[in-house]
Amino acid sequence: MSFTPSRRAFALGAATTALAAACAPREATIDEPTFVNLYTARHYDADKMLYAAFQEATGVEVRAQSGNAAQLLERMRTEGEATDADLFVSADAGNLWRVKDAGLLQNVTSETLETNVPARLRDPEGAFWGFSKRARIIVYRKDAVQPEEVASFDQLAGPRFRGQIVARSSSNTYQLSTLASRIERLGAENAQAWAAGVRANFARDPQGSDTDQIKAVAAGEAQASFCNHYYYLRLMRSEDAADRAITEKVGFVFPDQAGAGTHVNISGGGVARHAKRPGRAKQFLEWLVSDEAQNLLAPVNVEFPIRPSIAPAPDLAAMGAFKEEDIPLDALGRHQAEAARIYEQVGWR
Ligand code: FE
Repeated sequence: MSFTPSRRAFALGAATTALAAACAPREATIDEPTFVNLYTARHYDADKMLYAAFQEATGVEVRAQSGNAAQLLERMRTEGEATDADLFVSADAGNLWRVKDAGLLQNVTSETLETNVPARLRDPEGAFWGFSKRARIIVYRKDAVQPEEVASFDQLAGPRFRGQIVARSSSNTYQLSTLASRIERLGAENAQAWAAGVRANFARDPQGSDTDQIKAVAAGEAQASFCNHYYYLRLMRSEDAADRAITEKVGFVFPDQAGAGTHVNISGGGVARHAKRPGRAKQFLEWLVSDEAQNLLAPVNVEFPIRPSIAPAPDLAAMGAFKEEDIPLDALGRHQAEAARIYEQVGWR
């Protein structure tokens, strides 16, 4: 929270740097301190390894401050121009979009970013850029459900699963983005009918995390649910035999392979509107999608690399290749409010 006058000098320096960057090699021209402040809402161990590797490669230290996305947004809003944040990092395009919508990100672009990040996996104006991907999968109890009965999200809303679905709360960003993708593809009326159908199938009131839904299915509280793929992968990777036993009872599918493809979201970052080191922030963002970082991250990451040319971790690859939903991810942000309204209307708390 501390504000020092020298930060203004950094900001002026950055403007000069931006001009200089147009006509000189980038590495030599970032006339900013050799650290970058991250406000990060990601909760994955691999990130710390990335910070160390970035420092090793560039001499630039990553100083990360963690919090949940909503807290960090509020903090940036409160801090205003005095903020420490150079880069905001979060899972879920919905979270990134909310920070953009609050006017707290700035648009950036570069050849590296444009080349390495597929167009639909970033903000069209450059406010945020994906660096890894996650899929929303359906999980089901193997002794009660055939995989073809859960091949599509549509099926979770049908009478086959009356009293047999568990789900987490609708206030969760993953749930909002899941419904937002449906609004984008099929319209609000369809999305509302689907949400009402799933709501009618609940075995219990929405509660718990993604992992808790998998556990509830394994425990026989319900026959099916849905979650981000890495929560299932983590149980498979767990050193605890009880976790691995869960994945023996619970199968998964990448949904909607015969239709629109599986809903995919990103982890990504955006340069803070009031960054004191915008050059460093962009440098780190570019590095995150570079060969070096992507190849470093992929073998340990529970998420998919943002670039299709880079192989995911072997056990993640073993989950199978799948067709991805093809919608621009900023749509997830644009439809967040409508998704929240629909959930409320159908009584999905
Ligand atoms: Fe997560």
